[in-house]
Amino acid sequence: MSILTLSAIELAKKLREGEITSEALTKATLDRIHAENERLNAFLFIDDDGALDVARAVDADRAAGKELPPFAGVPIALKDNICERGTPVTCGSKMLEGWIAPYDATVVKNIMAARLPIVGHTNMDEFAMGSSTENSAFGPTVNPWGENLAPGGSGGGSAAAVAAYLVPWALGSDTGGSIRQPGALTGTVGAKPTYGNISRYGVVAMASSLDQVGPVARTVADAAALQEILSSHDPLDSTSLPEPATGLLDATGEGSQTEDLSGLRIGVVKELSGEGIEPGVEAVFEQAVESLKERGAQIVEVSLPSFEMAIAAYYLIMPAEVSSNMARFDGVRYGNRVEPTEGPVTAETMMRETRGKMLGAEVKRRIILGTYALDAGRYDEFYGSALKVRTLVQRELADAFAQVDALVTPTAPGVAFELGAKSEDLMAMYMNDMTTTPANLAGVPAMSVPAGLADGLPVGVQVVAPAHEDARMYKVAAMIEASADPSARTCPIDVREDA
Ligand code: GLN
Repeated sequence: MSILTLSAIELAKKLREGEITSEALTKATLDRIHAENERLNAFLFIDDDGALDVARAVDADRAAGKELPPFAGVPIALKDNICERGTPVTCGSKMLEGWIAPYDATVVKNIMAARLPIVGHTNMDEFAMGSSTENSAFGPTVNPWGENLAPGGSGGGSAAAVAAYLVPWALGSDTGGSIRQPGALTGTVGAKPTYGNISRYGVVAMASSLDQVGPVARTVADAAALQEILSSHDPLDSTSLPEPATGLLDATGEGSQTEDLSGLRIGVVKELSGEGIEPGVEAVFEQAVESLKERGAQIVEVSLPSFEMAIAAYYLIMPAEVSSNMARFDGVRYGNRVEPTEGPVTAETMMRETRGKMLGAEVKRRIILGTYALDAGRYDEFYGSALKVRTLVQRELADAFAQVDALVTPTAPGVAFELGAKSEDLMAMYMNDMTTTPANLAGVPAMSVPAGLADGLPVGVQVVAPAHEDARMYKVAAMIEASADPSARTCPIDVREDA
């Protein structure tokens, strides 16, 4: 078995015990990325030199007997909306093509402190807007589970890279489901932490009150370990929580998932089952619920009527914030400038030309929709009503968490769909997010864990916990993982014995 199929925890152990070097591991990782990327288009930038420099420095320090952080030398990838100093960051957009980040995001600083070689940046829907990675200006990422399949989005690049053993773990960002939904569609684990748990400083904003960076991995324990690395209080992000998350990896039982769940009350959300959910997904979900019951958990049906309005509220609040955050891409402050070829050249015509030529249709649609929703004459009707729904979602969740310790839902309404199948049907595309957006609106932690197969494709189960109870979320997810069909997290793809 190739070492590239091992988890980050297993790799870290091999590195610590001197069985492999970080240089050899990082080289094997880069070789596999180069070999597979033409087909998968998961990476937009591959950083051989940068990654190997870190790997060699880790090996040298280890050889010199220096104390190293536990995961030192395990390679990682970043979603391409996270600033890493001196490297290109595009956000999947022509607007930023060729832009070199002038500083490091706080999460990148934390990764560097953990001494993880960064092998590159992964493909994404333009400015993280989408559910299939087809909105990338640099072409879609292919789901390694099938050459015609979309990997979900917006973080399809990170999910596909991790699923196809190109890298053991990666970073994503989740505004309405962009870590969890691609996780479900590729058979990977993806978590959106409690809002404020991970710094957003240096992460290109989509909708600031909803955005949260999080881990993408092949196991629940790896995701927990990565969230611990990423989590820190950051004075540069005013929404950063005072205390970092701790005890996440411990909560997963680190592989010894024998724990019983007696005393734990798990809620099943009435509004997120049945209609709109594919029968194959529903069947896997029910099996996962059954497995929790077998471990002693008490299953309670809860009703959260506002969840049915969450998607509508999300598609008003999110574009409103998008319209404001995107204003900086005007060819003056940021973005590749395009001068008008006809008529007078003024600041306004230049900005119009720049935004007209450099942004894709979905991004423009959201800027227009958000600007409309915020218009003085319509503010109360649209944005104001959406904020009321947001409050309702928060209140109903708080009430639910008075009765249960965590909620479970299907992560996505269906399995991976074909590339192109939903790109013309916006409603169908947006409905992908019906199960994931409530957690962003409420700021609570939520993650997806592969739970089984439907039609030979992976199905994810979402675990939602109260704010600041990320450890509890990982605990329940680890239990689902332990009972799940392991083929749901094992992409059927060749991995050569390269290292
Ligand atoms: N699919 C959702 C959207 O298009 C979520 C995006 C995200 O989480 N970045 O808005």
